Amino acid sequence: MRSVVLITLDSVRADHCSFMGYRRKTTPTIDRMARKGLYFENAIAAGIGTPTSMMGAFTGEFAPLIDEMSPEIWRIEFAKRKTLGQVLSGFGYSTGAFVPNVFASRYFGFNKGFQFFHDFLKDKGKIYEKIFKLVLRNSKIAFAIRSSVSYLLRREAFTPWEKYYDKIIRWIEKVKEPFFLWVLLMDTHYPYLAPRKFRKWGSFWDMYYYNWKLQHVNFEDRLCEKEKQRLINVYDDSLRYTDEFIRRFLKDLESYDPVYIIHSDHGEGFGEHGYYMHGFVRNKAVCLYEELIHIPLVIYNADIGGKISTPVSLSGLSPTILEIIGKTSEFPSESFLSNNSAWVIVRTIESGRAKIAVRMKNWKYILGQKDVDELYNLRKDPKERENLIHEHPRLADEMRKIAKSHIKREIGASKMGGKS
Ligand SMILES: [Zn+2]
Repeated sequence: MRSVVLITLDSVRADHCSFMGYRRKTTPTIDRMARKGLYFENAIAAGIGTPTSMMGAFTGEFAPLIDEMSPEIWRIEFAKRKTLGQVLSGFGYSTGAFVPNVFASRYFGFNKGFQFFHDFLKDKGKIYEKIFKLVLRNSKIAFAIRSSVSYLLRREAFTPWEKYYDKIIRWIEKVKEPFFLWVLLMDTHYPYLAPRKFRKWGSFWDMYYYNWKLQHVNFEDRLCEKEKQRLINVYDDSLRYTDEFIRRFLKDLESYDPVYIIHSDHGEGFGEHGYYMHGFVRNKAVCLYEELIHIPLVIYNADIGGKISTPVSLSGLSPTILEIIGKTSEFPSESFLSNNSAWVIVRTIESGRAKIAVRMKNWKYILGQKDVDELYNLRKDPKERENLIHEHPRLADEMRKIAKSHIKREIGASKMGGKS
């Protein structure tokens, strides 16, 4: 059985990767992997936010639609489900994870199935949970203190990959093959802090100023175009920095010859639809536009190549990995490799109100996000500016039916708002 390395780049938008057509060379290594391996032109997140999307990825089922970011609820949900780590452990894999994102930590149950799980949290047990609850209750002081300390010490979510790179290599050297390794890189997650050597488009001043400024923008208060560009410069630098991790990693892992899957959990907003980042406790941006749902996805060194343009949902990750290692999947979702559907579903929730999108290759329908349904022609209007819901009633009807049958099956009408 082949070893498998899963690298999750937090908050990376598909359209900022050079192999997806971005004008800047942000991802030279991933470009090469995409060229030699298999990449997906229309990979869609399994939800907005790390825990939602990654629960879908590791269990083959969407995360439940709940507003509450309570670690207990997520742990209970994980306890009910079978995870990829568990299945691979059962096949004799050594399983390990390096995850400096608190929302994918053991407090959220993400350690299920991993024999080794490093989530970078200094506090142990109950104390951490107490602080965490304070943060989630919107306590600005608790949040500010915790963030500032971690930021200054560059620990927890602010740990740059170079700080734990050697630890990952040591884990690989120590364990029995085959192994399944999950590395989540936070360097592309806000705040975008690329080291000097990798700052190509943004300056030192831009980096600190715009990361600070982002704390003060919200739905109403937008940055001007010039400011937005400078913020994007800083983000692009952090993406280029993350690509360097992969370059070094491929080289160091040559003798192990693993299969690689590189993807992101969701995208990032830069004011396209009036919000920044990807939804946070104090700045909810829970919508289903492309900047948040369209993600990069590459499979490399698995003896498969080319590109797939039919849409796939990240919830197909677990069966895909099983297919690659030659095992039968019992996960409820379809593998990326044998998926025949022309559409995928993605959904989210805000203040108890569910929103659902049906994503086809060229079209997208969204229900519950605005007072009217939305229909976009992504080929002609990739920024989703012109709602064509009245221009294409037949297509809209067809896609509405798909959304409604999903709601009937999985969500329940009570959580849906808006006209339909
Ligand atoms: Zn994330």
